[in-house]
Amino acid sequence: MSVTVIRNADWAIAWDEAAGCHVYRRGIDVVFDGATLTHVGPGYAGRPDRTIDGRGRMVMPGLIDIHSHPGHEPAYRGIREEHGVANMYMSGLFERSQAYGAADAAARAASTEFACCELLRSGVTSVLDIGPAWEGWAELMAKSGLRAFLAPGFASARWKLENDFELKYDWDEPAGRRRFEAALALIDGLPKHPGGRLSGVVAPMQIDTCAEALLRESFAAAAERRVPFTVHIAQGVSEVLEIIRRSGKTPVQWAAQLGILGPATLLGHAIFIDTHSWVRWWTRKDLELIAGHGCSVAHCPTPFARYGHLLESFGEYLRAGVNLGIGTDTSPHNMLEEMRTASSLARIAARDIHSVSLADLLHAATVGGAKALLREDLGRLAPGCKADLVLVDLACPEMMPARDPLRSLVFHAAERAVRDVFVDGVQVVAEGRVLTLDQAGAAARLAEAQARMMAAVPARDYRGRSADEITPLSLRVAG
Ligand SMILES: [Zn+2]
Repeated sequence: MSVTVIRNADWAIAWDEAAGCHVYRRGIDVVFDGATLTHVGPGYAGRPDRTIDGRGRMVMPGLIDIHSHPGHEPAYRGIREEHGVANMYMSGLFERSQAYGAADAAARAASTEFACCELLRSGVTSVLDIGPAWEGWAELMAKSGLRAFLAPGFASARWKLENDFELKYDWDEPAGRRRFEAALALIDGLPKHPGGRLSGVVAPMQIDTCAEALLRESFAAAAERRVPFTVHIAQGVSEVLEIIRRSGKTPVQWAAQLGILGPATLLGHAIFIDTHSWVRWWTRKDLELIAGHGCSVAHCPTPFARYGHLLESFGEYLRAGVNLGIGTDTSPHNMLEEMRTASSLARIAARDIHSVSLADLLHAATVGGAKALLREDLGRLAPGCKADLVLVDLACPEMMPARDPLRSLVFHAAERAVRDVFVDGVQVVAEGRVLTLDQAGAAARLAEAQARMMAAVPARDYRGRSADEITPLSLRVAG
């Protein structure tokens, strides 16, 4: 094994095991032997193979993104930011999935490579990647250097629109079952992948697109494999009304009845629960059910905020006992900016600056995510944990004055101050540059993929509209 020491770090965000929280430490050494942290404290006396000068740096745990779709979201840049359907409670999800849903393997590869670069540059070391499986997925994620949790999605139905006010479904249960079996085969193969940083998550895509038996069986398959189970739930009012129409219950209450809530269940995004001001299905049980079953919630504020949707609220969920994590559901895949957005929106939702602190958000973006992924060895700087860490440049102008470097990083500098990133003890970002992937090359291929996707829109849209008709440019092109 090779020992690396980060010597005399001006600041470090270390884990206080007794208190169960992150704390600042000053002037310490952070040491890792291979993939494992061995020393977090002053005065390391061993003989390292590599020494990194920690002066002018803050060392912090790598961030954990617990909900993302790198395989297609980057292709929506310039398309989805202002796309919403008024008659579907502002959500553009259903219309966009139908019209823009054509993504080939080349598109997914370009999109994923591009997103992974953004993730790494914003200090992410672990990512949960949810989407349909594609050829080369595991190989690319292994090459990225990220610790990747692959969640090959499957469903019994697709959303089908014939107008802009009714959410309908195109059911094909045998196809859903085939994709479920294929997903399990992929998940079972991941731990054998060289590098040892890949693992799987069982992911029926949405509570409303999966048959009851499929949801039950996929939950059992996750439990049998001791891997996390994730499903989109309460992410749109149209979905909530559909589940109430089918079952007489809110999606969360229906999930509880199906027996698919538990400590390994990660809910994306559990916004529209019974007490939400846009739902007001006044049973007042949902939050208690989520917390009582020990579920985690993947909070990804950006795409919802763009529709005008708010989680009500992050602080309320925390105090109810829900384990919260943060994800980048859409582009940009910038976890630091996502934390900043989460902070502002949590305070707006609660009308209270003290509703949520930056310490709460860092906890969610590290150990909260680790708990959701059933990995207590991630998200914290402590001996015995994985050497997944980030070095922040305290002298970056946007960090200055660096009186409180975490505040400088999240509220001001974001990825501009991220210098070096290590995953499993291996350096994947140096001086702000991703060493493992080619973002510029991926960007060129992503632009081509976006053009192919937009060209396919008229044949897929229920009214045969073009991409420019559904999602016009922000400004008219004059002349
Ligand atoms: Zn999602």
